[in-house]
Amino acid sequence: MEKLTIVCSNCFKSNSLPIQESYQKANCGHCQKSLLNNQPVDLTKTNFGSFLSNNSIPVVVDFWAPWCGPCKLIAPIFKSVANEFQFKVRFAKINVEAEQLLGSKFAIRSIPTLILFKNGKELRRTSGLLDANKLKKFLA
Ligand SMILES: [Zn+2]
Repeated sequence: MEKLTIVCSNCFKSNSLPIQESYQKANCGHCQKSLLNNQPVDLTKTNFGSFLSNNSIPVVVDFWAPWCGPCKLIAPIFKSVANEFQFKVRFAKINVEAEQLLGSKFAIRSIPTLILFKNGKELRRTSGLLDANKLKKFLA
């Protein structure tokens, strides 16, 4: 049977799940927190590597900073679209002010920038404000 590997957004350990049409319940085998929560995870230099590489589904990262106005406008759109992509795309955020090394590692020149990763590799990126429909197209 095909399996899905999901990195827990609480303890960042990998979990293997059977691929199903829908999930009533799926808890992390390490910390018991629910894996069904697809709300954006804050990534740091210590956990971004495992999160980007070990999820078997794509990961979209919102690179943002607290002083950035358009970033504040994207945040609620990003959160609400996340609910529609459970076990299809994982959602994460990197604060480039707090994580400057990650900002330069991924060559972030303007924010907000969204990057879609699969198996730790960048598939595509987009910068600037976008609405829910454009975000869904970007992820599709
Ligand atoms: Zn866990």
